[in-house]
Amino acid sequence: MGALRERFWELPLASLSKPEWEALCDGCGRCCLHKIEDADTGQIEDTNVACTLLDTGTATCRNYKHRKAFVPECLQLRLSIMDDVPWLPRTCAYRLRHEGKPLKDWHYLISGDREAVIRAGVSVAGRVISEDDAGPLEHHIVDWESA
Ligand code: SF4
Repeated sequence: MGALRERFWELPLASLSKPEWEALCDGCGRCCLHKIEDADTGQIEDTNVACTLLDTGTATCRNYKHRKAFVPECLQLRLSIMDDVPWLPRTCAYRLRHEGKPLKDWHYLISGDREAVIRAGVSVAGRVISEDDAGPLEHHIVDWESA
């Protein structure tokens, strides 16, 4: 990983280097879960069903570097699509910074502790099921924002 500027997470998203952008993720794992979009209303429902690559115990990608080769539809968050992903959790570091808000105090860049996201109840670690075992997504709708 390249050099990260001091307190880079307080800088505008547009000014972040690639390593800084990558380092901003809090690792909650929420964007690695399937969503269901209502064809008529466009409304999006969350599920507790994880991408096949997600380690459901730690909420980390098991092959982040090569994930696109295995899951071509994996969403790559970038600045240009930030207005098109309203389903990102309110706590997502990218969403917060896109909205000009500070990171949460449990974010590892603030707390210095990668596990703090779990203790804060934000991580999906241990709370999801792999798509390989889940069956129909409709059976797994959850409301993470009030979970
Ligand atoms: S929802 Fe945001 S903070 Fe959480 S894993 Fe996805 S990109 Fe990272």
